[in-house]
Amino acid sequence: MGKRERRRKRERGKNPSPRRPVTPEPIVREFPLDAPRLRVVIKHDAPEDAQRISALYWEIKDDGTWARTVGSIGVAGDISAVAAAHSYATLLNCPCANCSEPISVTNRSWANKVGGKNLDAEAPAYLCGECTKIRQQEETERKQRAAEQKRIEREHEQQQAERLQRLVAHVLADEGRKTEPADPLPKDSPLALALYVALISYATRNPGKPLPSLTSTGPLGWTGDAEQDRELLSDLYHAKLLALAPESPPQAFTLSQDGDGIAFFSTEVAWRVVGGLTAAQERVTKIEDDLRTRPGPEPAEAREAFTALVDRLEVLDISGYLDNLLTKKYGYPAVPEARREELADVIRKGFAHGYTSGQMICFAWRAADSAAAWKERNPRMGPPEAASASVTSLNGKIDKAIELHHSIPEYEAPRWHASPLALACFRRLHADIRRVYAREVIGACTQCDHLGLKETVHPETGADTVWRCTHPVEIPAQPHGEEEPSGRDAASDPAGV
Ligand SMILES: [Zn+2]
Ligand SMILES: [Zn+2]
Repeated sequence: MGKRERRRKRERGKNPSPRRPVTPEPIVREFPLDAPRLRVVIKHDAPEDAQRISALYWEIKDDGTWARTVGSIGVAGDISAVAAAHSYATLLNCPCANCSEPISVTNRSWANKVGGKNLDAEAPAYLCGECTKIRQQEETERKQRAAEQKRIEREHEQQQAERLQRLVAHVLADEGRKTEPADPLPKDSPLALALYVALISYATRNPGKPLPSLTSTGPLGWTGDAEQDRELLSDLYHAKLLALAPESPPQAFTLSQDGDGIAFFSTEVAWRVVGGLTAAQERVTKIEDDLRTRPGPEPAEAREAFTALVDRLEVLDISGYLDNLLTKKYGYPAVPEARREELADVIRKGFAHGYTSGQMICFAWRAADSAAAWKERNPRMGPPEAASASVTSLNGKIDKAIELHHSIPEYEAPRWHASPLALACFRRLHADIRRVYAREVIGACTQCDHLGLKETVHPETGADTVWRCTHPVEIPAQPHGEEEPSGRDAASDPAGV
């Protein structure tokens, strides 16, 4: 008796001839017979043909591989559909990862996914139907809880945002009611008052617009130093010379740490001039006058601090122009970090010898031009060397001009060069201050003594008093220096820059 016949005989013994059971029970078959790995459960009411196909479909060999290909039973798609519709299989050796019950599957590919090629893998990743359902249920509940949590958070955020909005509106309304600066002007922050002069100059040129926030004034801001700008603006705000402008963006505000009030970012808010432009312009006249003429150690200190600030801005402006030339015009790197200190010294030397900003722009232009020409003549030199050489060249040009008393033309900085916003205003104010104390101006003025002072009567007290003269007479400028030999440098100068 062949192996297969023996098996059939045993099967017949196990499943006695089909009788219609009283209560319908599914037809159950197990493969392989000796040590079953797979139990097929066929629906009790499956037609004879479907029963036969299901058994053929699910039968496996002793090693757990399929006894036959689906194609060998019939048209593959049809066979699979019939088997799936009327039967399922339980993988007896593949326990559920959760409850250890054997896992049931509805088709061969799932069977192999769970049990591997031989349907005996203990697949720790797979769950039985029951457990899958429970897991899915749990997952659904978890997602619902998470969604609910999210909803609550969103609601809270929404409430906070609305609260912030209300508080911002409230604060801006308060700010809008500010009409008078604190009196007197804060004398302990002369640089803040100097910045105020520049701000009012800006406001005069841009009527109807708020003063821009620091984040929108460009990288150099008002004084080329973001931290200093922030401090000076804060001083002006606390002196009630500035208020927050209603145009300040919502992101400029945040709920304060204790949650009771709001705070604003002084770099993000836009500003409003308190008390109207006309009053501010009168105040500026007073500030400028104080800075020019007020006697005593405190004003002298203020003048000194202001002069130092202007000097710093002028140096920053020229070194920024040189960097821009090198990077934008020539495609070189900026002046290397190691030579920046030296560059600042060279620029300071130029200013100290009386060269104007326009002349310094001219020097910088020529220095970059010479450095580029030098690089062309020395093919082994790269862009970084040329950038570095521009410092040497600038130094040489200034020294030569000083030595030979050449007159240097004044160049206007091109439009792509951005200066700190306060520079132009500070430059004018600085020149005004210098003129008051300039010896040659005092000497030419007929209204004051050799110290630049004049005796007058105090308009309020009537007492004799000594005032510093602002020398209201026109004093002709002294031409100095000789024209430099023409045609030397001029050819490479940008016409009408
Ligand atoms: Zn389970
Ligand atoms: Zn005078």
